[in-house]
Amino acid sequence: MYARAATVAPWTLPAHATLFTGRYPWEHGVMGDGQLRFDASVPTVPALLRPQGYTSLALSANGTLVPFLAQEGAFDAYRSAEWWEKTFRWLRPEELDLSPRTRSRGGRSTMSLLVSAVARRHSPRLPTDLIQTPHPTATLFQRLSSGLPEVRPIVPGADSISWVAIDGLNRIARGIGFPDDPRPLPAAPWIEGTLEAWLARRPADQPFHCFINLLDAHEKYLSDGEVVPGLAAWLRFIRISQNQRRWLQGEWSPSDEEFRLLRELYERTIRILDRRLGAIMDVLRRTGRWENTLFVVTSDHGQAFGEHGELFHERSPYQPLLHVPLWVRWPRGDGGGRTVRDAVSLVDVAPTMLAAAGADLPPGLPGVALDPYTTPPRSTPVLGMADGFPCILHYRHTLSAAVVERLQHSYAVAYVGGVKAVVGLRGGETQCFDLDSDPNEQHNLAGAVSPDIEAAFQAARTVAHRIEAARGGTVDPALEERLDSWGY
Ligand SMILES: [Zn+2]
Repeated sequence: MYARAATVAPWTLPAHATLFTGRYPWEHGVMGDGQLRFDASVPTVPALLRPQGYTSLALSANGTLVPFLAQEGAFDAYRSAEWWEKTFRWLRPEELDLSPRTRSRGGRSTMSLLVSAVARRHSPRLPTDLIQTPHPTATLFQRLSSGLPEVRPIVPGADSISWVAIDGLNRIARGIGFPDDPRPLPAAPWIEGTLEAWLARRPADQPFHCFINLLDAHEKYLSDGEVVPGLAAWLRFIRISQNQRRWLQGEWSPSDEEFRLLRELYERTIRILDRRLGAIMDVLRRTGRWENTLFVVTSDHGQAFGEHGELFHERSPYQPLLHVPLWVRWPRGDGGGRTVRDAVSLVDVAPTMLAAAGADLPPGLPGVALDPYTTPPRSTPVLGMADGFPCILHYRHTLSAAVVERLQHSYAVAYVGGVKAVVGLRGGETQCFDLDSDPNEQHNLAGAVSPDIEAAFQAARTVAHRIEAARGGTVDPALEERLDSWGY
């Protein structure tokens, strides 16, 4: 277990591009406020593993990753959830038996056939196999709500009305299908079965690389019968908007009690994820893969519930967003039970996997290959940035000047020892925290003098220059549309 793992950015796309390449955002090019194009010339982990005889599979509950998963030469097979699977969980696409070279988004499932026969709204301008075909019911709910950044509610309060219906229907579906289980329905429940079917078709001695994204811990949080028992508690729960746009607009401000409830529901989703990880490990055991598999569990970013005045994930340089879990289980459990306190990063995941597979590491990777017994020395500190996703462009005219100002700031981050330095990219403002004595980042040490503080600021300033140098590209319009349809 790596107790001090850092992501490279507080949102999905840059962090995943780093997992797939082992490069920082300013190296692979996927950054908010800059280009959101994945540089196809940067080699990906599945492509680098292919010469070692590996086949690859990606299963994602988050549909915004499709442009990465569909990248030519990347994964041999992939399936990604439709955007509505995050919320409309009673519509359950079936598991797929992915044949080799299938790059399906679920296009063969009955649900998606039904969906595509009826509705083709929001079709992003992407290759044919990536066309977004939302369910008509979902489209209706989405129009009623303000889930899409550019869609205005048709009637005042429609946001909460649709949320009542969504959460209520999920609860009813859970009650009918699983009467003894109070947990919310999982997001993209076809992942475990599809993995098992895919593995079962392959000889147990054929090496494979599999990427799985589970989305259960992502807002909006569905209620459940234990945290939100009975009608009175549910009536309180559905008054919580969970709409980040309304929060930024100042139209919704959660009370302490509401924050407490959201945190509790978030923790419930972590327990759901825990069970799902157990199910995935069982699949590997049943198919004879577990003992010889390198199993890495991590997250693209964290989630804020009021810390530093932030909600869910936005462009935050603070630890609730940038600190992520990282667990590595080496084949045969080598070196198991160790807790490592050295700073590590998502840039270390790709070299760790490549080295374990005996593949050549591309020159100049910024991360280190972790191993079961030691933490290799790093030539540069762990780095990161805090950028943001582009949705704010659609409704910035509805936000206060102060909020727009806050959301326009990006930051460069560096970790040296227990010290974390943050440098603002626009104003150059500085913050510094001793994460050992001040894990909640309440006491800004910028101005204090120590070798670690100096080294951290120097690294953060270098990162700031590299980010500025890498910026200036454009946002892929198809990707922007996909982000919109997912409510980013
Ligand atoms: Zn994410």
